Order: sequence, then C-alpha cells, then structure tokens
Amino acid sequence: MRYHVSHELKQSVGARSLFTLQEEHVLLQEGLALDALHGTVEVIRTNKGLLVRVQVSGQGHGQCARCLAELDYPVSLRFEEEFLPVADVFTGAPLRIPEGADNFLIGADFVLDLHEPLRQYALMAEPLNPLCRPDCAGLCPECGRDLNQGPCGCGPRIDSRWEALRALAARLDSEEE
Ligand SMILES: [Zn+2]
Ligand SMILES: [Zn+2]
Repeated sequence: MRYHVSHELKQSVGARSLFTLQEEHVLLQEGLALDALHGTVEVIRTNKGLLVRVQVSGQGHGQCARCLAELDYPVSLRFEEEFLPVADVFTGAPLRIPEGADNFLIGADFVLDLHEPLRQYALMAEPLNPLCRPDCAGLCPECGRDLNQGPCGCGPRIDSRWEALRALAARLDSEEE
C-alpha cells in the first residue's frame, strides 16, 4: 500500500499512471479488519500534487451487533483524494502546504502511503449494525445466553412501570368489591 511516486511527480500535469493494490490484511481498529484486498490505484499529476483514485474490494471481518458472533462480509471501496508533496521532487526544497488544506501528504521520501485514507474510508463504509443474519435473536440481557441456540430460563421481562400499574389496578378491583 506504499508507492514510490517520485517518477509520477516528475511528469507534466495530466499524466496518468496505474498501480495495483494487493494487501493480505489491513487492521482498521481493534476487532475490525479487511482481508484479501485487491484493486487498482490510478494516479494523475495535478498542478499541486497527485490525484489518487482508489478502487478496492475484499473481505471485512467484524462482529454481529446483537450476538457478537464473528462475521465476514464483502467490502468494496472507491474514493479519490489529492495528495500534496511536502518537498519539491527535483530540488528536495520544502514546499509550503496551503493553509487549511486537509489533504493527505506525500513525505520527503516521495512515498505515497494509502493506509490512512483507506482506513478512514473503510471505517466510514462499515455497516453500523452488522448482523450475522437478519433475524438474529441476540443475547439475553439477563443471563447473556445466545438466544439463537434456544431460549434461556429467564422468561419474559416485565417493565417495572407496568408492574406498578398492575398493582394499582388490582387494588382498585379489590376496593370495588
Ligand atoms: Zn448475531
Ligand atoms: Zn436469560
């Protein structure tokens, strides 16, 4: 996911190069990873830096939001970002990054590192509540048992506010008699 781009930076504006991206395992954050990533990286010279277009797909790994089972799901990502070099590729002189620019940067070693943008876009694309199956029964809030494997002994939960109403109704009933 790291590409030497000094050659690309020496090209004239509009020049285009194509790289392949292949990565076995990318950790996004604790417990969340992408595997078997493959795709393409298109790099186009702009007047300020390199416009990078990434298109990848792979396998996501996470946990079911209800029962916490491990689960895999297909992931595909597509994004583009303009990367700015911090140094002039011909002279090595430092370049001023425009104030307020939130671009990703190409370091003085002229290596384009896609890990951080990939991580950010992958996290944005993550399903918020991935489920192992649409009707996952989840875990019992009382005993923690996986209810996909059958009911536990806890029985239906009764909301305490209803319990109070029920007591009041019972009292009214007995007063009428
Ligand atoms: Zn589940
Ligand atoms: Zn239970």
